[in-house]
Amino acid sequence: MPYIVACTGGIGSGKSTIANIFAKFNINVIDADVIAYKLVKPGSCVLKAIINRYGNDILTKQGTLFRSRLREIIFQDKKERYWLNNILHPLINIQTQNLKKIAKSPYILWVVPLLIENKLQHQANRILVINIDKATQLKRVQIRDNVTLAQVEKIIEIQATHQQRINFADDIINNIGKLENTFLQVFKLHQFYLKLAKTKQD
Ligand code: ADP
Repeated sequence: MPYIVACTGGIGSGKSTIANIFAKFNINVIDADVIAYKLVKPGSCVLKAIINRYGNDILTKQGTLFRSRLREIIFQDKKERYWLNNILHPLINIQTQNLKKIAKSPYILWVVPLLIENKLQHQANRILVINIDKATQLKRVQIRDNVTLAQVEKIIEIQATHQQRINFADDIINNIGKLENTFLQVFKLHQFYLKLAKTKQD
């Protein structure tokens, strides 16, 4: 198995942005959210199961999943959240393992928003936590997703707290400032992870 760096953080903390920087250094990125997106594409078994449960209102006019509507449902009702997770997580897990096997870079960046919540820490060699203050987080998510403050707060509320993530962190990236600053932090960590991955192989 390759050396695995798990990257986690709250919604809008900057995981995708940071993963894109690692990818620029030719590091293979496995992103649980990207896998989940693909699993619900039109015609998929997962989307069929979702339609069975919530009816055609869960689709957009184009026949794709109405994500914000599904999000509304699952963030309001624990039972629905569990239902969806029970379907998605085993499938995400299978695809993740397959992608890990074919990865070619010296280490893999494994982006897992719910690493701590789903107790997946043991599957990583190293845990990288993205740090952001709540005000910046709220602002960035509202702009990115065009959602209300209340909706973002609800999502943050059911995710692990910053402190819970920090308790497991080997490394932290501060993504509060400008992107240049984040880029430098990624660059330094990348050099470090190359060394760690090499030491593991030797
Ligand atoms: P996540 O994947 O953790 O949900 P994203 O990487 O999508 O978070 O970042 C959330 C939003 O904040 C995106 O619109 C992204 O472009 C923006 N963003 C991320 N990092 C920065 C930064 N350092 N400065 C300004 N905007 C940022």
